Amino acid sequence: MSMLKVDQLSVHYGVIQAVKDVTFEVNEGEVVSLIGANGAGKTSILRTISGLVRPSSGSISFLGNEIQKVPAQKIVASGLSHVPEGRHVFSGLTVLENLEMGAFLKKDRDENQANLKKVFDRFPRLEERKNQDAATLSGGEQQMLAMGRALMSTPKLLLLDEPSMGLAPIFIQEIFDIIQDIQKQGTTVLLIEQNANMALSISNRGYVLETGSIVLSGTGQELLTSDDVRKAYLGG
Ligand code: ATP
Repeated sequence: MSMLKVDQLSVHYGVIQAVKDVTFEVNEGEVVSLIGANGAGKTSILRTISGLVRPSSGSISFLGNEIQKVPAQKIVASGLSHVPEGRHVFSGLTVLENLEMGAFLKKDRDENQANLKKVFDRFPRLEERKNQDAATLSGGEQQMLAMGRALMSTPKLLLLDEPSMGLAPIFIQEIFDIIQDIQKQGTTVLLIEQNANMALSISNRGYVLETGSIVLSGTGQELLTSDDVRKAYLGG
C-alpha cells in the first residue's frame, strides 16, 4: 500500500525552480532513497512534504489524505517525522530534555515512557549521556539524538535528511544499521543522501534527482548496478 504519494510536485524560491514536476511514492514498510548531487532539490522535497515549504504546484498525499496545505505541526501529529539536515538538536537542553521535546504532541505518559525506553534500547549511548547538554555530544551522537527525538512521536513515516553527513566512517555504518533496524520495527523511511552507495544498499527502491527532476528510478540493487548511477554518483 502506498503511504506517501508525491504527484507532479514543483517548488519555487522566487524565480528559482528547485523542484520540477516530481512524482514518486513510498509504500508501507519500505526504505526509499532520493539521491542526487548538491542542489538537486532533495532537501526542498523533504521540507515540502513536512509542511515547512509550500509547493507552487502538485500534491502530496500521506495515508490517503492530501497534506500540501496542512500546517507542519498537524502533519507531525498525523505520523510523519522529519530529521533535518545538520540535526538541529537543542543546545542548553539535556539529551533527555531533547527527547522529551520530540514527544510534545503526545499526551499519553505511558506511551512516552515506552517510547523513551525503546529509544534508549536502540541508542544506549544516549541513555549513558541523558543528563549531558546536547551541544556537548559528538556529531554522530547528535545524529542519534535527532533520530531518537523523531522516533519519540511514534512516526509511521520517518524522513531523514543526509543522516551520514560529516560523520566518521564508523558512525556512518552505525547510522545505516540503525535505519535498517528502524525499518524492521515497522517504520517506513524516506532517506535523502549524497552517500548513494550506502543509501541504495539498504533501500528497497530509489529515485535519482538531477536539477529538480527525477531522471532514474528502480530497486536499490538496480540503481547500485546501473552504469549511469555508477558513473555519476558511485565513483565509476
Ligand atoms: P544539498 O545536497 O546540497 O543539500 P539538495 O539536493 O538538498 O542539495 P536543495 O537544498 O533542495 O538541494 O536546493 C535546491 C535548489 O534550491 C538549489 O539551487 C538551492 O540553491 C535552492 N534553494 C534552496 N533553498 C532555498 C531558499 N530558501 N531560497 C532560495 N533558493 C533556495
